Amino acid sequence: MKHSIKPDKLVVFTGAGISAESGLQTFRDTDGLWETHSIEDVASVRGWQRNPELVLNFYNARRQQAAAAQPNAAHLAIAQLEEKYAVTVITQNIDALHERAGSSQVVHLHGELSKVRSTRDPQRVYDLGAKAIQLGDCCDLGAQLRPDIVWFGECIRHWDLAQSCFATASKLLVVGTSLQVEPAASLLHCAPAQAEKIIVGMEAPWRDYGYSFVQGKATARVPEICKRWLAN
Ligand code: NAD
Repeated sequence: MKHSIKPDKLVVFTGAGISAESGLQTFRDTDGLWETHSIEDVASVRGWQRNPELVLNFYNARRQQAAAAQPNAAHLAIAQLEEKYAVTVITQNIDALHERAGSSQVVHLHGELSKVRSTRDPQRVYDLGAKAIQLGDCCDLGAQLRPDIVWFGECIRHWDLAQSCFATASKLLVVGTSLQVEPAASLLHCAPAQAEKIIVGMEAPWRDYGYSFVQGKATARVPEICKRWLAN
């Protein structure tokens, strides 16, 4: 499909690193969640089949922490970009800190902590807020509820929309992602050659995506970039 660049279209692509300074652990840093939990146990269909209680408890804890966390300066600066640009935030995050900072177009590729769905009918999705779910909590068909999270091996959400947002953006800002999770990371290749493209992170990306790299914490670097884009 052919896409044309829209001059005021700005895409922000985020990962767990943007929420780290709000107190939410990332997955892969040295103090990350994978240090204490195995991916296979808590983020795969097999893990769910083996021990659903462990999985529910893991996400109950994440949901409670995310609800208690506050958006930080990076989330807030991104929301402010809407004063000048048509902004779409495409996030791998399952927290709602972008929405709570005021971003109006947020696309969650990997699901949302505040939602649960039926294990019998994936279309039956319920808003849970910060509440916990337990074994025995069922949908109206009588089937167990599970977190509405995309686990390893499951299909990413909103793929076509994410690709077309990347392909039509004149500015792209990537923040706080290790770019290890596919297919999400491959979205970076959909960006137009002539777009202004920046990656913000603690360490340089593991492969060259053709984006400029700005090293540092999201709360320091993102407001600087957003201020410049609002002024230009
Ligand atoms: P990741 O844990 O693989 O990588 C996080 C990246 O952020 C690392 O490159 C790290 O160096 C960087 N980082 C850490 N602190 C930072 C800071 N203060 N400022 C800027 N960068 C910082 O996370 P990922 O790439 O998002 O991918 C893994 C999966 O993690 C996603 O699918 C997502 O669903 C899930 N996840 C989400 C949350 C959340 O919603 N807050 C939390 C943990 C994991």
